[in-house]
Amino acid sequence: MVGAGAAGLYAALVSAGVGARVALVSRSPLAQTASYWAQGGIAAAIAGDDSAERHLEDTLAAGRGIARPGAARVLCEESPARVRDLQELGVHFDADRDGNLALGLEGGHSRRRVVHAGGAATGRRITRDLSALAATNERIDVLEPLAATSLANHEGRCVGLIARPRRGDPVPVLARAVVLATGGMAALWERSTNPRGAVGAGLALAHGVGADLADLEFMQFHPTALRHPGPRDGFLITEAVRGEGATLVGAAGERFVDELAPRDRVALAIEAELERSGERAVGLDMRGVDMARFPNIAAALEEVGIDPRRQLVPVAPAAHYTMGGVATGLDGRSSVPGLYAVGESACTGLHGANRLASNSLAECFVFGRRAGLAACDNPHPPPGATASDERHTSIPTEQTRAALWRDAGLQRDAAGLARLLDDPFPLARLVAAACLAREESRGAHQRTDHPQTDPALDGMHTLVGGDGEPRFEKWK
Ligand SMILES: Cc1cc2nc3c(=O)[nH]c(=O)nc-3n(C[C@H](O)[C@H](O)[C@H](O)COP(=O)(O)OP(=O)(O)OC[C@H]3O[C@@H](n4cnc5c(N)ncnc54)[C@H](O)[C@@H]3O)c2cc1C
Repeated sequence: MVGAGAAGLYAALVSAGVGARVALVSRSPLAQTASYWAQGGIAAAIAGDDSAERHLEDTLAAGRGIARPGAARVLCEESPARVRDLQELGVHFDADRDGNLALGLEGGHSRRRVVHAGGAATGRRITRDLSALAATNERIDVLEPLAATSLANHEGRCVGLIARPRRGDPVPVLARAVVLATGGMAALWERSTNPRGAVGAGLALAHGVGADLADLEFMQFHPTALRHPGPRDGFLITEAVRGEGATLVGAAGERFVDELAPRDRVALAIEAELERSGERAVGLDMRGVDMARFPNIAAALEEVGIDPRRQLVPVAPAAHYTMGGVATGLDGRSSVPGLYAVGESACTGLHGANRLASNSLAECFVFGRRAGLAACDNPHPPPGATASDERHTSIPTEQTRAALWRDAGLQRDAAGLARLLDDPFPLARLVAAACLAREESRGAHQRTDHPQTDPALDGMHTLVGGDGEPRFEKWK
């Protein structure tokens, strides 16, 4: 297992639960995972007036005609059971006055269905609990801090990896299967809500052994990230606050968008408002919101001297969620035997061109379980299998991050993308190739030179194979 965020921890516990021995390789401390930072919660159709069908409709609508219906159905049908599993593992979710699970409302959801913990501290609560369970599970060896830098490929099958400590010799880990749970790549963009380590290491590792990557052109920009000089710049203000009545206002103090529209629409409306006004931020008016429900947001704002009960909070979009990733089936299997991917490093196709809020933590648990079980079915590595020491991962420079923000930002065109094709960072080039191939605008992929949606690309996802050339296919 590579990665100890929500997906990796949960998949490791599931595999260990059916008797497997798991090596859990993780590069950074828990507090530097996207999972730990997750605020809003887990989408699950639990309410009496809700159903998996409704959740599915909302997920497919957000996906703008290219979400993979089979994967979205699995998510919507299995998410409530995974919430129950987490409760059985000891996670305490927030409850209403009657003791039922309190359900939040977020953009694009037609019902209240977001289960949360500690107000907006959902990720922190869940990952702390899961990591304590993993640390004390005798079937799980936690190898931390070690970074996986290449995968072991034996006769076309993935049989392990090479991991490196900050100092010292590389550590080979041979295994029946490798599950990548390394998170997304939003921190490749200059302005991001993600931890610095979210640079797509799993995608680079998978590409290094020829696995297909999918939908790299779809990076979700969160509409409301704090705009403030210093380390808190990019701090995410969950859309749950808009669900609780916060509004967005432009330079003239007027509302300019339906705050609960899907993320891509709200982000583009903010971008247009910023272009129109020449300002660097719009105002998030949280004065009517009960901040006791969002203690970590209140604390972060207080740290930078903003009082949301009296002042507008300056916000602007930032790169947030990687819809694309290692192309997988519904049990996390990649195109290379023995290699699996889950969570944000994977692309099951369920999010299509735009992820519905809070579907990603749900994805970590639903597909984490499936991959954790499927990976155990592989044979032991053959005698003599070894891992090559060639490095498949690298760290992006600030120039690469600036180039992705400029040339593959909320809006892109052929000229900027062609420039990005020359970037020294391999993943930036793959993103550019996928963005160039999709000559249309859809969800999170907006081309100013191709502003319309092309009906010929309905249902088509982009696959980038080992040769780096994008091609379009229908999900099977
Ligand atoms: C601020 C913020 C708020 C969010 N809020 C929500 C929300 O409310 N609801 C929701 O559904 N989603 C939310 N998301 C998205 C969600 O948190 C992520 O999609 C999800 O947590 C990803 O989990 P993961 O386990 O796939 O990856 P991560 O949690 O990012 O974990 C990745 C792990 O991989 C390790 N790793 C990376 N590279 C290597 C390597 N080479 N070798 C070894 N280890 C490696 C890292 O150290 C880490 O342990 C939010 C995201 C952010 C940033």
